[in-house]
Amino acid sequence: MKPFKREILLKELKAEVIWDIVIIGGGATGLGVAVDAASRGFKTLLVEQDDFAKGTSSRSTKLVHGGVRYLAQGNLSLVKEALKERGLLLKNAPHLTKNESIIIPCYSWFAAIFYATGLSFYDWLSGRLSLGKSRIISKKALDRRLPTLKKGSLKCGVLYHDGTFDDARLALNLAQTCVEQGGVAINYCEVISLNKSSNNKISGARILDKETGNIYEINAKVVVNATGVFVDDIIKMDNAESKSLIRPSQGIHLVLDNSFLKSRDSIMIPHTDDGRVLFAIPWYDKVIVGTTDTPLNTHSLEPRALESEVNFVLNTARKYLEKKPEKKDVLSVFAGLRPLAATDDSSDKTKEISRSHKVIISESGLVSVIGGKWTTYRKMAEDTLSKIIKRGMLPNKKCVTNDLKIHGYTEKNVSGNLSFYGADQININHLIRSDKSWAETLNEETGILIGQVIWAVRNEMARTVEDVLARRIRLLFMDARLSLKLAPKVAEIMMKELRQDGIWKEKQIRSFSELAEGYLLKEN
Ligand SMILES: Cc1cc2nc3c(=O)[nH]c(=O)nc-3n(C[C@H](O)[C@H](O)[C@H](O)COP(=O)(O)OP(=O)(O)OC[C@H]3O[C@@H](n4cnc5c(N)ncnc54)[C@H](O)[C@@H]3O)c2cc1C
Repeated sequence: MKPFKREILLKELKAEVIWDIVIIGGGATGLGVAVDAASRGFKTLLVEQDDFAKGTSSRSTKLVHGGVRYLAQGNLSLVKEALKERGLLLKNAPHLTKNESIIIPCYSWFAAIFYATGLSFYDWLSGRLSLGKSRIISKKALDRRLPTLKKGSLKCGVLYHDGTFDDARLALNLAQTCVEQGGVAINYCEVISLNKSSNNKISGARILDKETGNIYEINAKVVVNATGVFVDDIIKMDNAESKSLIRPSQGIHLVLDNSFLKSRDSIMIPHTDDGRVLFAIPWYDKVIVGTTDTPLNTHSLEPRALESEVNFVLNTARKYLEKKPEKKDVLSVFAGLRPLAATDDSSDKTKEISRSHKVIISESGLVSVIGGKWTTYRKMAEDTLSKIIKRGMLPNKKCVTNDLKIHGYTEKNVSGNLSFYGADQININHLIRSDKSWAETLNEETGILIGQVIWAVRNEMARTVEDVLARRIRLLFMDARLSLKLAPKVAEIMMKELRQDGIWKEKQIRSFSELAEGYLLKEN
């Protein structure tokens, strides 16, 4: 099988005369399209300007869900589609997903009946792919299942099921799946302009290798713009006059120690003071609390949480939890930008903007994929390829991703600290056995092994300290302070593996430290 190594894949990028399809953007959307196209047998290239899932796709709430909120809005087809995709994802990537019990605390019997009825319908919509029946649970059962939930005037709870997952690991595993299916997926390659033929049709792209500064001219029959909140930047490369299609909406999450929840069940608050939905979700050994929905007029790869968003999440969590979280308790704060389809309505009501996706093909043939969510990435990809084929831009080939196993898939019940590697766990254990020092942990505060860093460099295309600590191992997202402490050790290991020098190492430590500071909350 083709190795997942940047140097080898870069050689392929240079050697290919004409690609069937080039995808810009290595988040959920682009990687989904790349896996779909490669597995149909098309010559597929995906380029990501930074690391896979550097953008929104590592910053989600970690839910694989039908969207209970969209059910309340009456958007049944969107919910039904997402519930099917939820089921497929849990089936095809069991090593990264989990069936999660989520409990809605109810303070009146009317609310309990309302949610129980709606969620029974949600179960019914999921059909054969249901994850379990929703039900009302007593106050006594709530005491046991959610010991840290404030009980006060609580009457009961409604329990339902959705999935949770590791978003950045899934993105990486999709890139690996694309390569296993014959495609090429490379990080740190930016599209800097689009090429057009004499009849003004898109014929390829100019790509900058950000590691070497080399520029490559790539020919392609189809170019797909899957750049999330950057979608308008690429559209403007095609037509400088085009109007904006995206309105970013920021969502933040706070990460707390599990002592705030002490449960394997999640909490869902369906109506916060300003009508939002808030989740507290156990994730690895931490709790993620979020999110917000703040319309923005700018976009970046490293959005920052606003003070008002942090206060909103903390204040809401304090209302429901016995142990009140303070700023000092926040282990990490991360912000992400939803690439919502812009409407002509200039109001700030992003909650009401459609979360469904759109595939738009410009006059010159640029294919842009807009909106959607992680859960539906596979269906978005299928729709994109269907539209491309329908337009006659590529020949008809069947979609096979319904049953395609994602890299790492295993039927074995994997557990322990390395479980998220799935089928790769056995190879990591092998690697660790080849050098005794690799079985040691990075320091006494963590169970992360030196061998995991080596593995990330050798087999997961990790190029920087941030790639390892933020997305191969999720430490930056789980405990920013600890990740800062470990950065020098990780840089040292990587320097040797990548045959870099001390200057590289110091630069890596500096840039990771600057980045990680943004994931810490300053107390005032
Ligand atoms: C706060 C929040 C919570 C969410 N929670 C959930 C959830 O729980 N469940 C769920 O299903 N969905 C959730 N979503 C939605 C989901 O995360 C997004 O829909 C999805 O990640 C978007 O993926 P994307 O690939 O379109 O964008 P991105 O992940 O942003 O990827 C776009 C990529 O394009 C790259 N790029 C840009 N320009 C170029 C260029 N010129 N050359 C090369 N590459 C380029 C960027 O670097 C970026 O990596 C959430 C979103 C947010 C913001």
